[in-house]
Amino acid sequence: MVMGLASRLRRLVAAILVPALMIPAPAFAQASGKGGLPIVRDAEIEALVKDYAAPILKTAGLSRGVDIVLVNDEGFNAFVSGRRIFINIGTILQAQTPNQVIGIIAHEVGHLKGGHQERLREQIDRAKTIAVVASLLGAGIAVAGAASSSGGMAQAGTGMMAGGGSLAQRSLLSYQRSEESTADRAALEYLRATRQSPRGLLETFEILERNNLFGGPLNRYLSSHPLPRERVANLEAAAKESPYWDEADSLALLQRHDLARAKIAAYTGGATAVRRTFSFDPRGRAAQYGDAIATHLAGSPAAALSKIDALIASDPKSPWFQEMRGEILQQAGRGDEAAAAYARAASLDRSGSGLLKAAEGQALVTSGSPARMGEAIAKIREGLRADPDNASAYRFLSMAYGKTNDIGSAELAMAEGYWHAGNFRQAKIFALRAQGKLKPGSPGYNQAADILAYDPNPKG
Ligand SMILES: [Zn+2]
Repeated sequence: MVMGLASRLRRLVAAILVPALMIPAPAFAQASGKGGLPIVRDAEIEALVKDYAAPILKTAGLSRGVDIVLVNDEGFNAFVSGRRIFINIGTILQAQTPNQVIGIIAHEVGHLKGGHQERLREQIDRAKTIAVVASLLGAGIAVAGAASSSGGMAQAGTGMMAGGGSLAQRSLLSYQRSEESTADRAALEYLRATRQSPRGLLETFEILERNNLFGGPLNRYLSSHPLPRERVANLEAAAKESPYWDEADSLALLQRHDLARAKIAAYTGGATAVRRTFSFDPRGRAAQYGDAIATHLAGSPAAALSKIDALIASDPKSPWFQEMRGEILQQAGRGDEAAAAYARAASLDRSGSGLLKAAEGQALVTSGSPARMGEAIAKIREGLRADPDNASAYRFLSMAYGKTNDIGSAELAMAEGYWHAGNFRQAKIFALRAQGKLKPGSPGYNQAADILAYDPNPKG
C-alpha cells in the first residue's frame, strides 16, 4: 500500500517536471489543453520570495495587491503580467544568492511599475487566477486519490489538479527592448533605495550568458528579455556607482535561500541534484534537508523521518522542517501524526501561510477517522480563507464532506475549487449537482446558485 502510494507520487512528480510547454504531461494535458501555465505552491518558497520582494515593492509604491507566483519550470525565467510577478523555480535553484533573485525581482517590478504587458491584463484577469495547474511541491496529491472513499470524487479531483486554463505562455514573454532599459533603471533605483547591492542583477546576466553558450533551457529568458551587449554595459556602469555595491545578504536569508534550493533540487532531480547543488558543502544543513526530502520522495518514509527529525533537533523553530515531517507522515498513511506536525508548522510560520493551515485539515482527512471530519473541515476552511486559490484543499474539503455523507456540500466544494481555478464550466456542473442535494435557501444552495449565475465573459 505504501509502496503503491510512493510509486504513484514518483510518477506524479515526474509528470509535473516535464516542461509543460514542450511535452504536455498526461496530468496537464488532460484538462488544461495547450499552454497552461504550471504553477507550483509551496509555503516555504512563497514566504521566501515574498520577503525578497517586500522592500522592493514597498519602495516602488506597490505594496498591495501584487502576487508572486512560482512557475513549475526548471528554466531560468521571470516575468510580470497584470499585478503578478511570475518566477520559475529554476531561477531560485540556479541563483546562488538571495541578492540575485532580488535583482531579478527588482527588474520585474520595474516592468510592473512601467505598465509593460498591461495589454495582456484583461485576458489574464478573465482566467480569474492563473493558479490553474496548481500543484503542491509536497505530497497530498497522490494521497488524495487513495484516501477518497469515492472513486468519482477522486477522479474529479485529478481533473481539478489539471485545471482549465489556456494561457499561451509565449504571449506573456516578450518585452520591448526599450522596456528592458526602463526596467533596468528602475531596478537600480529600487535596489539603491532599499540599500541592496545591484551586483546580483549583473551576476544573473552572467549566469544567462554562460548557460546560453551550452544551449540550456535559458533561451526563453533571453528571448523575452533582450540582452544586447549595450544593455549590459550600461547597467554595469550604473550599478558600480551604487554605494551599496558591497552590501551582502544577511546570513539568515542566505540560509533560507539554500534550504529553498535544496527543496527544489530534491523535487526536480532527487538526491543527485541535491548533491550537485551542494557539492561545496555536502554536510551542511541545506544538503541534509535536500537529502531528507529526496529520501522521502524515493519512498523510504522511515529513513526520511529520521533525517527530518535530526534537522528538527538542530532547529526546532523551523516551520518548514515540521511541515516536511507532516508530509512524510501523511504519505506514510499516519494522518493524525501528520496533522499534529502541520499544526506545529502553522504555529511557527510567521508568514501566515494558508497552505499550512489547510494542510493540517487535509492530514485529518487522510487519518480516516470520521470523528475528526468536523475538525478537518474547519481547518481547511480556515486555510482557504487565508488562501482561496489552494486547489488541493478543495478536493480534501470535498472528501471530508463525503465522509460525513454530506454529498451536497462535497459537490459544492468541488464547484468552489473549479471556480477558483478558473474552470467555470466544471464549476457549474458541480454547482448544479450540489443544488440538487442541498436545501433550497440554505447558504450552500445560494452559493451554488451564485456559481451557476456567474458570467466569466460579460459583454460577450
Ligand atoms: Zn525584462
